[in-house]
Amino acid sequence: MIGKRLSDLSCDEQEFNKIKQPYEEALARSEHPSILQFQPPSQRNKRIRHRRVTWFCPPYSDNVKTPIGKTFLQLLRKHFPHEHRYARIINKNTVKLSYSCMPNVQNIMKQRNEQLLKEENNTGDVRRCNCDSINNCPLNGECLTPNLVYTSNVSYTEDNVAKLAVYHGSTSSPFKTRWNEHNSSFRLEYKRKNTTLSKLIWNLKERNIP
Ligand SMILES: [Zn+2]
Repeated sequence: MIGKRLSDLSCDEQEFNKIKQPYEEALARSEHPSILQFQPPSQRNKRIRHRRVTWFCPPYSDNVKTPIGKTFLQLLRKHFPHEHRYARIINKNTVKLSYSCMPNVQNIMKQRNEQLLKEENNTGDVRRCNCDSINNCPLNGECLTPNLVYTSNVSYTEDNVAKLAVYHGSTSSPFKTRWNEHNSSFRLEYKRKNTTLSKLIWNLKERNIP
């Protein structure tokens, strides 16, 4: 223990060796003979102490003229004086007051915009296709792209005249979801009226027109 104390007081081992002799002699005289060794300073983690503060946060209003903070602290002093049994827990240092304010509209908008821009920047890492093979993908490996306007062409022959029906659609969900919806609407009769496209397909189907 003496060695540790001396090490802490010395800037390096050399200084330590210079001064240790009288201490060793004193220890020997007290029948605690020991050889003092320099102990390099160890990095100790500082203890972090958290203050126990209780916050009182009344909502702010411009219309209130009462000095709420002042009145509140006065009440604190009145009801928890020094001799009160809870004065150590509840006093001016452990109870703080702050107005709770809502962020203003500009702040709310800024936060929302930042969030949106972040999401947009992240789209680079997102999967673009979840098909087994790119050859089966309806959109050449981009089938999970959302927010698309797409066109589908239906060509058929009616009364020996070649005809072409063009259908325009838009989807906010990934394209593949819409693609599957269309396909099932061509297959399942109860979905035949889902879209103009499915109505046309079912019409052609019933007249055996490929
Ligand atoms: Zn795909």
